[in-house]
This record gives sequence, structure tokens and C-alpha cells, in this order.
Amino acid sequence: MVERDPWLGRRPLHLRLRFLQGESTGSYVTRLAARNLRPVEQLLASVGVGPMPVEPQYTEMYVSRYARERLANLSGCSVAELSLRLVSLRDEFLMPDGSADDWEWPWDARAGFIVQACSLCAASRGTRAPAWLILPDPWHVCLRHGRWTDNSRSLQRPYIDLHDHPGVVRAQQCLNRLRKRLGYAVARWVEADALSVLTCVGYLEDPSRATEQEWAVLAARVGEQRARPVAQFDMVARLAWDMAWLEERRRAGRLSTAESRAWLRRVGRQRGFVFREPLTHWISGHRPLLHARQAGGSGTGGPSQTEVAGQGTAPLASLQNLTCLPWVRMPNEMDRLFL
Ligand SMILES: [Zn+2]
Repeated sequence: MVERDPWLGRRPLHLRLRFLQGESTGSYVTRLAARNLRPVEQLLASVGVGPMPVEPQYTEMYVSRYARERLANLSGCSVAELSLRLVSLRDEFLMPDGSADDWEWPWDARAGFIVQACSLCAASRGTRAPAWLILPDPWHVCLRHGRWTDNSRSLQRPYIDLHDHPGVVRAQQCLNRLRKRLGYAVARWVEADALSVLTCVGYLEDPSRATEQEWAVLAARVGEQRARPVAQFDMVARLAWDMAWLEERRRAGRLSTAESRAWLRRVGRQRGFVFREPLTHWISGHRPLLHARQAGGSGTGGPSQTEVAGQGTAPLASLQNLTCLPWVRMPNEMDRLFL
């Protein structure tokens, strides 16, 4: 068995690295080694013992408590700061104490998706090589540079230019406003339910058959699987905004049964008849809290994830895990767009 060298990894490397928001640990370690003109294997030898490194675009790297401390030393920051910047270094993702190795690269990330970082954002942090994020969604919208990146590893088309799709930019701005207004956790629940409703009605499930030229062209260019979430994004935001209207009032105890029914009629009319059934299903789990109180609080409000969870969401919880509806299906390791 290879022994750890206790003298290695005690001093910071000469060159520090600027953090990228949402970066994966594997990507950060690879960038840190490159910045200091070292092979990744050599840098890892200062962190502990473990298997050969894997390219960061394929999976996430998880480390032991010991390796996290060493990595913080090498990075020149505290363990607390490093864990704050790199979500996969948080306690819940550490390897179990007593593991023989100090790091591992499982077949797939344990939570979240590996998404390519916007190359212009990475360049502004001094990185020219592709950098990789670990995110709760398999996509990322860079509002600064108008780029959509996803969990595809395509080198020919690493991003989708949103200057051709201004509706997607507006949708992300709308979701950001929603997060400010409702708080991140509640907004994510609403977003998850909105996506589930769209999945149920089959909204633009196949963008190549869309009547709008915009989506058919995109599907032909990047493939239907990559085009689908981009094509659905505008409607996810609109529906999330509608649902947030009801949820905000409901949570404040200001929603009556009559208002809830009127909301269903209004949104059904605006968005289309096919939305009525899944939305009826949704409000059956989001009944007015006012109604529940008037009925003696005997649980007539029905279960809803907002009441069950209540204490915030895990940073990498996917929309599929957050929704209270059964229809949404996120990509998993069987849908690897890059294999
Ligand atoms: Zn950017």
C-alpha cells in the first residue's frame, strides 16, 4: 500500500487560482495543477494517496477529510472557504472516514450535473482551457455573455448562443426575480413543479417538430436532446411565474378556495387547455392554508413539498427530486450526451 507523505502539501503552491462560481472539485484541481505547471498526478501526490486522475468533464472528484485539508493548504485558503466555493467538498460529500484512498472519481457525480463553464467567464478568471461546473440542473445560463451551456461535452458546439434566443435570456431573468422574491428554496420547488407540468403535457418534447422555425433549426444544429430544455425554458419561467402567484398567497395564508379556482381557470385559458389537468393535480396538493385552518387544521390542506421540507433545499438537489408531481424526468448516466 502506498504511504502518505506527511511532509507534502503543507505549503501553498506558488500561484493561486481565482474561483469560478459553481466549479467542480475535479475541474478546480486540474486548473490548479495547470496554473502551477505541474501534472495533476503530482499535485494529487501532495494531497494523499488514490487512483489515477480522470478528466474533469467526465465525473466529479470526491475527497477524504485529510485530502480536503491538504488541498486547502495548497490552495492557500481555509477549509471553510474552500468548502464554500467548491460544493462537493462539503461535509455531506466527503468520503467515509477510514477509506484506504484520499480521493475517488465515481462513474457519475453523486449529486448534480457536470456542465461546461462559460468559456468567457473562465477566461476572465485566467483560464483558457475548458472549466467544468457541478450544478443542480444539467444546464447553465450565462446572462453576462448570453450563452447556454449544458452537460454535453461537444467540442464542436460547446455552447448555444442566446443572442438567437432572447426569450431564454428573459426567462432566466424572470426565474432570478422569482428567486429573489420567494427565496431560493421555494422558487426552486415552484420551478420543479412547472417543469413537471410541461413534461406531463409534452410541451415541445420534440423541438425538431416544432412549428416555430427557431426550435427546429436549433434541434437540427445541436440535436433534439440538447435543444429540448432550451426550447422549453421560456414556458418553464412563465408557468413558474403563474404558479408562484398562487404559492406566495397560499404560504402567506391569503389564498381562498374561490381564488384558487379562478387561478386555475385563468391560467388554463392563458396557457392552453392541456395544462388544466396537471395544474388541477398540482393545486390539489397546494390547497389554501386558510381553508385548512378554517376546517380545524385537520390536514385538509394536503401534502405539499413546501410544508414537508420547509427548511431549504440541498445545494445540488435536482428539479426531479424537488417536485411534488410525478412527471418530470431529468437526464441521468444512461443519457450521457457525450458518449
Ligand atoms: Zn459568461
